[in-house]
Amino acid sequence: MHLKEIKKIYHKELDHLYSKEEVDSFFYLAIENYLGLERFVLALEPNLTITKEEEGELFRALSELRLQRPIQYVLGSTQFCDLDFIVNENVLIPRPETEELVYWILDELRLVEKEISILDIGTGSGCIAISLSKYLSNAKVQGLDISKKAIAVAKENAIENKVNVDFLEFDVLSLEELAVQYDVIVSNPPYVRELEKSEMYKNVLDYEPDGALFVPDEDPLLFYKSIVRFARHHLNPDGMLFFEINQYLGKETKKLMESEGFSEIELKEDMYGNHRMLKGVWSQ
Ligand code: GLN
Repeated sequence: MHLKEIKKIYHKELDHLYSKEEVDSFFYLAIENYLGLERFVLALEPNLTITKEEEGELFRALSELRLQRPIQYVLGSTQFCDLDFIVNENVLIPRPETEELVYWILDELRLVEKEISILDIGTGSGCIAISLSKYLSNAKVQGLDISKKAIAVAKENAIENKVNVDFLEFDVLSLEELAVQYDVIVSNPPYVRELEKSEMYKNVLDYEPDGALFVPDEDPLLFYKSIVRFARHHLNPDGMLFFEINQYLGKETKKLMESEGFSEIELKEDMYGNHRMLKGVWSQ
């Protein structure tokens, strides 16, 4: 079959679910991933034909996209901070907002020359922990997650990215048992309230792990409270705590950090202009 025919079929089957640009990008990602072809190949070779086997791969991907399975899970991988990460339904798909959090941390630590110990709480695919380890040669990084399956993915990602990160299965709500001190603690814990579900896409709701996303409406800062209290006792002097946060709870999350004695608190917007990141210093 001609490759351009398959592109037409992608549009015919998916255009009612996604924008044309999105369908184009799914098609190009699929041919790059399964066939190793660049997106401009059709411009250069408009009559390019592919084998039956290759066709099979592209149609299998199409059938999953039709069920609105996220493209990252269909392909089994995604990019984050210019690195490749394996992803599956056991881990949240890394988001561009979280890249911004990593870039903020990198910026804050740019001038530090001594060895830095970093803890990532609720690490999922390991994207934050691994990126920090990759870009900070002086960092010793640990990542925790309650999910054994997530830890397995994170460990694979550390191997793929050739970094040495220590990943442990651990419940965020019983952190006190960890007897280690850190210079930086970072977390992107679950923060979406049930009442915000209506704002979310079907592909997120149907496929991404609930446990990584949702918090009870009556206690949306549940994880933040536990992590802030843990950080008070486990940050070295002048250690920093970084969070990704719920855009609607910026003030409340900031207040929580203040009330627990953190200083130099900074609330930062993401590229969409939403309150998305928070930093505090433990100077007591
Ligand atoms: N930003 C993610 C979303 O809206 C949520 C991430 C999280 O709960 N930590 O899908």
